Amino acid sequence: MKQFDTVIIGGGPGGYTAALYAARAGLSVAVLEKLSAGGQMALTTQIDNYPGFEEGVDGFDLAEKMQRQAERFGTETVLTEVLSLALQKPLKEVHTTEGTFLAKTVILSTGANPRQLGLANEQALIGRGVNYCASCDGMFYRGKTVVVVGGGNSAVADAITLSRIAQKVILVHRRDTLRATKIYHQQLENTPNIEVRYNSVVVQLLAENKLTGVILQDVNTKEELHLPCDGVFVSIGRAPASTLAAGQLDLDEAGYIVADESTRTSIPGVFAVGDVRTKAVRQIVTAMADGAAAVHYAEEYLNEN
Ligand code: NAP
Repeated sequence: MKQFDTVIIGGGPGGYTAALYAARAGLSVAVLEKLSAGGQMALTTQIDNYPGFEEGVDGFDLAEKMQRQAERFGTETVLTEVLSLALQKPLKEVHTTEGTFLAKTVILSTGANPRQLGLANEQALIGRGVNYCASCDGMFYRGKTVVVVGGGNSAVADAITLSRIAQKVILVHRRDTLRATKIYHQQLENTPNIEVRYNSVVVQLLAENKLTGVILQDVNTKEELHLPCDGVFVSIGRAPASTLAAGQLDLDEAGYIVADESTRTSIPGVFAVGDVRTKAVRQIVTAMADGAAAVHYAEEYLNEN
């Protein structure tokens, strides 16, 4: 069994910043990542709110750079799926598909995943008409008709992105007003191929081999409408990836790991950084700040234990 001073679960910007700081502090550090570096960031083609890149930067490229930078100082990246954790033990255990890793400290940077509608065949239709990332999958719908579900900033931003690719975009929102900020309302009005359907929810996904349409229900009249479409983009917020921590760490009612700016969780030696932690602003830069803080307090913990 391999042992590390710090095992970091999740290779997004928070995770790799923690790895960079930990490795530079002389700690032995492993980042356990399921697929590739970057988390949600890697799915964004144009990131304009990460300082230092005046023309913006591709999220996947930025993630690779973060990984290589942390590895330059000795970080080991292991591509594996974490199956379970034993966090209460003095030497914490991380059970993975590549075996068990022992860790003096654990930093959880598992992020958050898109929320699903919870419809019967939703899971089966992913990649066959059901999508959760407009900037990743929008290009498959050139000249087609797509439905975007949600009324927040993400849903409206997605609708605008898709309006440049698809022939028609129908934004479906369950209330009579959008949650999205005012600036987006104006953009919506100025985009002729976006239609907004308020007070409506998607109650059924229609499919043969792939999606062919949706059934919308009016939340007030309960009247149903068959809407033929080629794709649905679900943009109804995100849910923290905290299942591994459930039952061990304190979570809030939405499932986020309870931790303040110090990133310390309810178990000493265990830290939560980035989108999985309770916090007000979930951005790349705030996740990275968490990574640095986590290592500061991990070093303090290691010195005392
Ligand atoms: P959000 O602000 O939480 O909005 C989620 C939307 O989905 C809400 O309109 C909500 O309806 C709806 N919704 C939730 N569950 C639903 C369900 N089961 N069925 C149908 N509709 C459902 O999430 P977000 O838009 O992903 O944004 C997350 C955060 O990122 C926000 O703080 C946002 O401001 C920020 N963000 C900012 C920008 C920007 O400023 N450029 C861009 C993207 C995101 P209700 O309105 O009825 O609750």
